Amino acid sequence: MGNKLDLIVIGGGSAGVAHARRAAEYGARVVVMEYGPLGGTCVNVGCVPKKVMWYTASHKHHFDHAADYGFDVAVTGHDWAALKSRRDAYVKRLNAIYESNLDNSGVTHIAGTARFIDAHTVAVGDQEYQADRVVIATGGRPIVPDIPGAGLGITSDQFFALDAQPGRVLVAGSGYIAVELAGVFNGLGSQTQVVVRKDSIIRSFDTMLGQELMQAMQKDGISIDTAVIPASIEKTDAGLVLHAADGRSFGPVDCVLWAIGRAPNVEGLELDNAGVASEDSGFIPTDKLQQTNIEHIFALGDVTGRAALTPVAIAAGRRLADRLYGGMEGRHLDYDLIPTVIFSHPPIGSVGMTEDKARAEYGDAVTVYTSGFTPMYYALGDRKQRSVMKLITTGSEEKIVGCHIIGDGADEMLQGFAVAIRMGATKADFDDTVAIHPTSAEELVTMR
Ligand code: FAD
Ligand code: NDP
Repeated sequence: MGNKLDLIVIGGGSAGVAHARRAAEYGARVVVMEYGPLGGTCVNVGCVPKKVMWYTASHKHHFDHAADYGFDVAVTGHDWAALKSRRDAYVKRLNAIYESNLDNSGVTHIAGTARFIDAHTVAVGDQEYQADRVVIATGGRPIVPDIPGAGLGITSDQFFALDAQPGRVLVAGSGYIAVELAGVFNGLGSQTQVVVRKDSIIRSFDTMLGQELMQAMQKDGISIDTAVIPASIEKTDAGLVLHAADGRSFGPVDCVLWAIGRAPNVEGLELDNAGVASEDSGFIPTDKLQQTNIEHIFALGDVTGRAALTPVAIAAGRRLADRLYGGMEGRHLDYDLIPTVIFSHPPIGSVGMTEDKARAEYGDAVTVYTSGFTPMYYALGDRKQRSVMKLITTGSEEKIVGCHIIGDGADEMLQGFAVAIRMGATKADFDDTVAIHPTSAEELVTMR
């Protein structure tokens, strides 16, 4: 392969690999530059190992209810190290599959750190490569706050490197990662506390979801403190102590986990050499066609700061290749109505507008349907976990513009409903759909 290409893709994560393979399948000469393991965040320190940990913690939930169903089960321990080694082996298998998928699609993988020389030239080490188009898909990394002792804490990246389970954990943050990893630690028996800087958790979601999840986490034994602005972490003989700006202290614990958002990987790219504009936060803005301010340079996935989810990164990447190399003029990802799941305990599924947003946009035209119930799974025992569902509709035709679910099965339930909502389903369409009984999902088509 010469160094003159059709396409250089920087970043071998969800977005970069999806885009590169699709472009190569259309006949483009493509390289992917990646300094880490292939698969990026999702495969190595994100969705995949996280879901393994979620499954692990979910077992605890089922063991807790085994006696209700007549089983005489005693769980005498959990081997974190053994689980980690199986999980790591799975991730390594995926890394190899990513490598061979690139190979099979005719994409060349160049290992190393990419940096722009000019708008058509990207270097890895002392090798320079030129291409007609460049795609930036460099993802992001966890934020660590700039406060004394912050480095004594870990982030989600180091969570996946833990060889042993910490006994006492403090999670600082209130978004996806905070609630997911707090649920894992707690499910596996760590004494778990969460500190959030505002008054609730997952505040970007419908208020009902945050309230219900907070209650469920507290009922499960997680302590949650609000209005905590982290000021410093101190290492004491008894463990790590987080001091808050208002003088309160939390701990001592064995592990503090920062889960306060992610920053884009743009340092070292030398974007200025190509004239690519970025925001103050570092995120690279694009138009709806994923184009940056430079006509032949595009950005995809987390580095654009929009809907940081793997399927979004993949879909945007594939559509961009369809448009640029597949002759599908105008094809692009529509960022509305993106379904998402939080793998909390219990899980959450959400698509579309929150009630607050719908009311702000449509006022009195909004009708909301809510159903709260205890799933049949809990009928035989005393420990019960509520499910709550909410449909948000607008207009006299009651078009569904939001669907929010918390409870067992929400994660698997949402995908099909998201299809219907994307197709413009109304409340009447839901009502006209025959229920599947006995399930939790049937509540969504029987709401009054
Ligand atoms: P990445 O996957 O981060 O890929 C970017 C790649 O670029 C990286 O491999 C990086 O090494 C490489 N790179 C960066 N700079 C350079 C450079 N200069 N030269 C060469 N290579 C470079 N999403 C979901 O949809 N579902 C989930 O359940 C989910 N769980 C998550 C759990 C956690 C703990 C985290 C952190 C994220 C999770 N996400 C989840 C989000 C998801 O992982 C990301 O949205 C997705 O990985 C973004 O893909 P990307 O290609 O934009 O970036
Ligand atoms: P999120 O954006 O989900 O949440 C971070 C939250 O932390 C903020 O919303 C903010 O909430 C709070 N926060 C911000 N700064 C501070 C601070 N200095 N001190 C205390 N709290 C602070 O980020 P995550 O890191 O949890 O996850 C990053 C992204 O990765 C997610 O947005 C999601 O797109 C993706 N992801 C997806 C998953 C999935 O699909 N299941 C799972 C994990 C991640 P507040 O304003 O309320 O204080």
